[in-house]
Amino acid sequence: MDKLSTFYKHMLSNLWEELVSSFFKPKNNQEKPPIIYSILKQTKLIELTEKKAVVSCDNSGVKIFLDKRISDIENRFFLILKKKIKINFIITEKKTKKTPPLLAYQPKIDELLSKTGFSIKYSFDNFAVSSTNQVAYAAAQAVVKNPGKSYNPLFLYGGVGVGKTHLAQATARRILEKDFNKKIFFCPGDLFINELIESIQEKTTQKFRKKYRYLDVLVVDDIQFIAGKERVQEDFFHTFNSIVSNGGQIILTSDRPPNEIKKLEDRLKSRFLGGLTVDIQPPDFELRTAILLIKAKEKGIFLDIEAAKVIADQITDCRALEGTLLTIYAGLFIKEKKEKIDITTVEKYFSNQQKNNQKKITPEDVLKNVCSYYNLKPTQIKSQSRVSNFVFPRQLVMYVLRENLKMKQEEIARFLKRKDHTTIIHGVEKIRQIILKNPLIKEEIDNIIKNIFSST
Ligand code: ADP
Ligand code: MG
Repeated sequence: MDKLSTFYKHMLSNLWEELVSSFFKPKNNQEKPPIIYSILKQTKLIELTEKKAVVSCDNSGVKIFLDKRISDIENRFFLILKKKIKINFIITEKKTKKTPPLLAYQPKIDELLSKTGFSIKYSFDNFAVSSTNQVAYAAAQAVVKNPGKSYNPLFLYGGVGVGKTHLAQATARRILEKDFNKKIFFCPGDLFINELIESIQEKTTQKFRKKYRYLDVLVVDDIQFIAGKERVQEDFFHTFNSIVSNGGQIILTSDRPPNEIKKLEDRLKSRFLGGLTVDIQPPDFELRTAILLIKAKEKGIFLDIEAAKVIADQITDCRALEGTLLTIYAGLFIKEKKEKIDITTVEKYFSNQQKNNQKKITPEDVLKNVCSYYNLKPTQIKSQSRVSNFVFPRQLVMYVLRENLKMKQEEIARFLKRKDHTTIIHGVEKIRQIILKNPLIKEEIDNIIKNIFSST
């Protein structure tokens, strides 16, 4: 269904609802609606032109009832549309549940994917191919052509952000697109572990097995996590065998090839190596540029190709590409009131970044910022007072000096006029614990640190 027709339907239903509700505006909860209201509620405006409206009714009783009151209904419609419209009630059979496959296609695939652990954002359509990933891409295509037959498992490995998850998901998605009856499932390695442990505790291992062993496609992302866990590996071995012997396809991803995964059982290693193992290299410049252009298009950001090249040249980490794009875009909107990311914007962004990196943050900068945040004086932080209002900010200064400025404990002690370095160890540890335990304070601390580095 295209956007326009969705919009049109939406508009019709809004208009009709307005008309129907003009017959009943309850003043209190007890008030009962008039019959005409209840009957009109069962009808639907299906067509509206300059002169005519077509309204569908479920049966002839409804049509006869409404035809008798047509002038009242037309008058009310006139009040809403400011136009005299002739209303024609027609009888339509109640729709059977069957919807044409084309209409049901989009929502259905998204729904199926979400239900089975997949993300709807990964597909072949938004996967760019270049020399660093073309072998993996070709292997994925072969798997789509002949699931369960050509390469089983398909084992994709490579560093962080090279597109393993994206490619694995896109492969399963295409298999599903070709045949909606395929049972597919996406499982991060740690989820498999957790589910198995849970099922053992709750004595539901049969259910667990049933869920996995009859799949047509199983994707386990980051399979390396199961290494070293005996019971998990044992179960995965059986899962693997039954899926494969039932003709199902297995797709695995990992940060390294099977023979380099430590503490992975030999029988699993040999199973994994029995399929096709392909690596994905870090994306080259062309691929990074292509990914940027794809991401920008998806987000409705207008990105100039020359600007994309500059970003791709500066940012080599695939995951950081998207983040950088968004940061530049946000800055563009707020500061420059422009809509298009062009080469000037990007160059300005990177030169500002460079300036920021070159700036040297001094211990005084840290002290000054923390003090202004908590409304304290530097002398209070450096004092020996143990008032709680002073203690936390003081420890925070210690933490930033140690963690961000990498100062020695003795230096920090001298700077803050503390007796010795154990006070510093204690203070830094205190903040570390707080950060681990309390997300709200962590956020506050993150903000203060960000501020120190951006304002000085
Ligand atoms: P990995 O699983 O290898 O760590 P991901 O699949 O999560 O990497 O990819 C990280 C990000 O980069 C995702 O947003 C993904 O869509 C994108 N990406 C990686 N490779 C490609 C590619 N070839 N085409 C389009 N996007 C890609
Ligand atoms: Mg991944």
